[in-house]
Amino acid sequence: MNLSAFFALPAPVRLPPSWRRSWSSEGLLLAVSAFLLLSANSAFFRQALTGRSLGDPSSWGFGLALALALLALNFLVLGLLCHGRLLKPVAALLILVAAGGSHFIATFGIYLDPSMLRNALRTDPAEAGELIGSALLASLLFKGVLPAVLMWRVPLRRLPFWRALGRRALWLLGALLLLLAAILIEFRPLSSMMRNHRDLRYLVTPANLVWSTGSVLAADLRGAARPRQPIGLDARPGPAMAARTRPLRVVLVVGETARAANWGLNGHARQTTPELAAVPGLINFPQTSSCGTNTEVSVPCMFAPVGRRDYDEDRIRGSESLLHVLARAGVDVLWRDNQSGCKGVCDGLPSEEMVRLDPPGLCAEGRCLDEALLAGLDERLASARGSGLIVLHMLGNHGPSYFRRYPERFARFQPACQSDDLRQCDSTAIANAYDNALLYTDHVLATLIARLQAQAQSSQVDTAMIYLSDHGESLGESNLFLHGLPWAIAPEVQKRVPMVMWFSDGLARQERLDLDCLRRRAAQPAAHDHLFHTLLGLLDVRTALHEPALDLLAGCRRS
Ligand SMILES: [Zn+2]
Repeated sequence: MNLSAFFALPAPVRLPPSWRRSWSSEGLLLAVSAFLLLSANSAFFRQALTGRSLGDPSSWGFGLALALALLALNFLVLGLLCHGRLLKPVAALLILVAAGGSHFIATFGIYLDPSMLRNALRTDPAEAGELIGSALLASLLFKGVLPAVLMWRVPLRRLPFWRALGRRALWLLGALLLLLAAILIEFRPLSSMMRNHRDLRYLVTPANLVWSTGSVLAADLRGAARPRQPIGLDARPGPAMAARTRPLRVVLVVGETARAANWGLNGHARQTTPELAAVPGLINFPQTSSCGTNTEVSVPCMFAPVGRRDYDEDRIRGSESLLHVLARAGVDVLWRDNQSGCKGVCDGLPSEEMVRLDPPGLCAEGRCLDEALLAGLDERLASARGSGLIVLHMLGNHGPSYFRRYPERFARFQPACQSDDLRQCDSTAIANAYDNALLYTDHVLATLIARLQAQAQSSQVDTAMIYLSDHGESLGESNLFLHGLPWAIAPEVQKRVPMVMWFSDGLARQERLDLDCLRRRAAQPAAHDHLFHTLLGLLDVRTALHEPALDLLAGCRRS
């Protein structure tokens, strides 16, 4: 497509006479920098100026220094990226992504850090479709497309290459000096702000988008250049696994966006888990914390030997997962996905996508209800040889379209928000839709346990189920929605998740599990960090990676 034709204005729209004179590249970039400062950074200024009074002159000085610093920073970003024939296309792209990014920051209270960017870049089309609403389109039009068209219409003066380069270098130097001057003038308040609120920098738009995209791409390139580091090369079946007379089938359900605060079993004001509450022998862990606040961080972390305790994203992404260690010891592993993939956790191992499987009556428009994960599960459980682990990756409470996550018969709490745009609904309607989605998760889990119970009785196998959500969710508390805030400043609702365990009678006997002891342990704090070691212990895979102190079952086996 010819971009100039795309951005051509209809004939009656005439630019003011002064605009018809040709501009220098730097003059245009300065104007774009000023526009981005004003249009895309209201959340940054609101946060940075919190607690300051309008009547205090020092607030104005600080605000002015911040504005000059951001103007200089915007110019540095634009001046480094926008050159020659690519000047207008790149500047237009930055204006558009800044309009989109600042819309999500303002609407959901998110921060555009690398981990949020990774999440956004991995969004599938169905997920993206749910985020596009009239409010986003209006922001994109008025803060993105129209300004980009105006910018495109400004005629530019062309200079010989070396003169253009020299001129640009001088302007960039000037911007750098302005940035340094603004920082030095307000050094004390600025340095204390950056010490106490380091993550504020991820509100500075579009620098946040450029920086985060760059660091995600750099990390991916580093990762792609290196094969996944093998871990647990010493993994082998332990004596209990080798001596098993009845095969063991464990189903691990990785939940999505279920938060502990709304989990009925945790004493939420209303019962969102009525079916699980009626399951005999179910063990609930009410004080479980997640490793991250988004799927891209949490899922790889849950399957890593060292998670939040000593968090190292590069090491986790660059290494094999628990599933590879289990497979090495002879456990039959299968990942069934009803979401955005296993994030590298199941690379090279058997996996299935529910959308492709398309079980009748459960899928539409590229999405499936979570009951799809149970379709064909019995056959897969029966076909495993020896010990088997099946991971079910749920769609769960994936927002903002909670109402799309459950069939009509679970729309019990009313009125429930029926819009993809959460701002169209009040907080009660949002919470109702969210809790309805939990009711459906409750139903799927209870149905799964009933199937595992039936298998244990009819097929002479031992079965177990562990459910653990990947992260929590904000439902409008402190004007925050969804999830993915940087760990250091994320509210508890994004970091506390439900976890439950269930074991067949045969399994509890065979493993000499003291369920009363485990119930007492469950009342203590637990975390994603426990999952790796607990599953190694449950499946009796021996490796030096296994840390008994982090194995939730280890202390509750009768000798
Ligand atoms: Zn998630």
